[in-house]
Amino acid sequence: MPKSSLYNHFQRWNEAYYIAYNARSGAVALMTPEHHAVYQKLLGKLGQGEAASLDAAETELLGQLKYGGFVLEDDEDELSRLRFPHNLARYASDGLALIIAPTMACNMACEYCFEQNKSGRMSTELMDRLVDFVDRRGRALRQLIVTWYGGEPLLAMDIIEQLTARFLELGAKHQFDYGGSIVTNGYLLTPQTVDKLCELKVRSGQVTLDGPAVIHNRKRPLKNGQDSFASILENLKHALTKMTVSIRVNVDQSFTVETIDQLLGELTAAGLREKVALNFGHLQPSTKACANIAESCFETRAFSRVEAEFCQLLLQRGFSIYKLPAPKIVCCMAQITNAFVVDPQGELYRCWNYVGDPARSMGNIKDPLDFQHPNFQRLFAVDPFEHELCRRCNLLPICMGGCPSRRMDLGLPEHHVCDSWKYNLEPMLEIIAAAKLREQPKTAKEPS
Ligand code: SF4
Ligand code: SF4
Repeated sequence: MPKSSLYNHFQRWNEAYYIAYNARSGAVALMTPEHHAVYQKLLGKLGQGEAASLDAAETELLGQLKYGGFVLEDDEDELSRLRFPHNLARYASDGLALIIAPTMACNMACEYCFEQNKSGRMSTELMDRLVDFVDRRGRALRQLIVTWYGGEPLLAMDIIEQLTARFLELGAKHQFDYGGSIVTNGYLLTPQTVDKLCELKVRSGQVTLDGPAVIHNRKRPLKNGQDSFASILENLKHALTKMTVSIRVNVDQSFTVETIDQLLGELTAAGLREKVALNFGHLQPSTKACANIAESCFETRAFSRVEAEFCQLLLQRGFSIYKLPAPKIVCCMAQITNAFVVDPQGELYRCWNYVGDPARSMGNIKDPLDFQHPNFQRLFAVDPFEHELCRRCNLLPICMGGCPSRRMDLGLPEHHVCDSWKYNLEPMLEIIAAAKLREQPKTAKEPS
């Protein structure tokens, strides 16, 4: 007998539709009230074991619901179906993800920076060790993914070039695929650099713009005190013709709908509205170095509210919505064995936020990996399937237990670990549905 998925969400959306969403499949569908009435009847019949008495409309809807993962067979254990790929991913050795900081130096002096303004570049000897590290694993690999990080990685473009050339050689030797991306502040992302990055197989990037020019320039000045916003915007114009670039806005309590609107106006005036993927990041203190910003940060519930307000504004101003409640197998790199952040000294970390803090290292690239190291186990041991709240949570497939570092390091109450979806799924689904309708104006009507 078919049964309903644990991960279904049905919500009324104005007069015209119900939104149906399944967190395990990621399916989003619009139902008219008539369809919803059929659904309710269908549920009633299934609940009473009357599957044999379905009429034609109910039978057709049942097929669609099965296709979208909203209904499944009675003997299917959804939690086990989620847990199996999660466990496989934890121990997989055919993929290697390296987040490499070739330098911790930076050309900016951001007020919230957790990287403590370190300097230092990766030495030739360390580069050799890093290449050896990949070579030793090469035969088992199908894919190597490198993210260039820092500091500001573009201050060490020569290191990026040298390492990429050697990773590509290893890819040819061991027959694995290679792909790259970059997290940069964007100031040095000039057209020449973008062209070079494309040659080096860096296909995507993330750039931070912390508000409109007047705010960004205050929050993210160059080290010499000069403004950075105009140069970054100019760089983005070319970069977006060659690679996928997302813009991250680190949101704290100083942001309002008005300030975001001002930023959207500036992006529109620069001709970037249709090209950028804008995301709102939840700014949080992650180390002692940025404990000074704790008071200006939102707690999760409040962040979720403003995130939905800002996404609503994106919709109104004609920007695309990129934040989608997509299912994932793990929460992040900390839950898989074959992913490491590497700093310029060769120290290995389990979280982006730890880079440059030797006390959080799980060992050095020069030494054999120690999976029993407390700094490995600490985050890896976070298993959402062992937490009763997560096991019972109907958002588990899109959250996977939330950020392990927040759970283990910050001593927050359990509900602060939850992803913002926990608190804004309903308004976000309305925004996503409206965005989808806008893309298909002729196939459905937008509710008033
Ligand atoms: S532990 Fe949290 S902050 Fe660190 S990489 Fe994972 S999600 Fe990101
Ligand atoms: S952390 Fe919160 S939202 Fe995420 S799965 Fe656990 S209970 Fe659900």
